[in-house]
Amino acid sequence: MNDQDPVGASSPDSHEADGVPRLQRIVARTAEIGGEVPVSRLLPTRQRRMVGAWCFLDHAGPAGFAPGAGMRVGPHPHIGLQTFTWMIEGEVLHRDSLGHVQVIRPGQVNLMTAGRGISHTEESLAGERRLHAAQLWIALPAADRDCTPAFDHYPDLPLWDEQGCRFTLLAGRWGGRVAPVRLYSPLVGIDVHAPVEARLRLPLEPGFEYCVLPLDGAVTVDGERFGVNELADLGSGRDGLDILLGAGTRALLLGGAPFGSEVLMWWNFVGHDKAEIARAQRDWEIGSERFGRIEGWDGPPLVAPPLPWVGV
Ligand code: MN
Repeated sequence: MNDQDPVGASSPDSHEADGVPRLQRIVARTAEIGGEVPVSRLLPTRQRRMVGAWCFLDHAGPAGFAPGAGMRVGPHPHIGLQTFTWMIEGEVLHRDSLGHVQVIRPGQVNLMTAGRGISHTEESLAGERRLHAAQLWIALPAADRDCTPAFDHYPDLPLWDEQGCRFTLLAGRWGGRVAPVRLYSPLVGIDVHAPVEARLRLPLEPGFEYCVLPLDGAVTVDGERFGVNELADLGSGRDGLDILLGAGTRALLLGGAPFGSEVLMWWNFVGHDKAEIARAQRDWEIGSERFGRIEGWDGPPLVAPPLPWVGV
């Protein structure tokens, strides 16, 4: 996955001028990640660059495909972010330059902390015929952006039933629960599945920005309906959310404290200035040890597109 829109990541104010929380509709655009799986990109957009430190959101599938035609993303680098994968259907193999080889299965999260530099691959397992996943990036705060790279697999997340729905806490805190996922800024992520129509009241943190994305089905917020791949940008300043989930709906609720500084996103890099991104790009092009080597992948590395800036 990658982002090739080099615009800076400052978001407009989350509040409308009259103090009423924002409700903005963001419709996905189609993205290419490798393989035949359709991918819808919700973040970043010009309307909203980030929600807290969540700075990238791809919704992959749900898709069926012939064996061998699923996700296949060759070696590519990351800096300055954490990649966060939430698997709903199908199985994907992750390999990275730290030597991790990990299959992620439905109900699990993979978290890769790129810090100063890492590279990885992702591929549907041989024989796999389905994929449905959310792939996100979390920007690292400036103080942590050069941290030691790491990879964490979370097979067991807090899971509970409430108000007729099945909740999974993907990241951060919710009520008295805490997800084990390693974070560097205040964030939350939950997955809510409604087997039958459900009307929920969800407590929110007024200082956080939030969004909701239906991954299946549809939700209604403040009288507006949002279908699959229509993100409801909720802004900040809400202490709760009344939401209607249609039967069979699965929705992602993401939130976080406003990031507080601009980040620059280019290709697979998150940086704080152009020079930092240009250095990472050059290090990848020359095969620097910074991004290591991936064992067991058969194929060439991904080639970075030319930098969009002149004179760096
Ligand atoms: Mn990646």
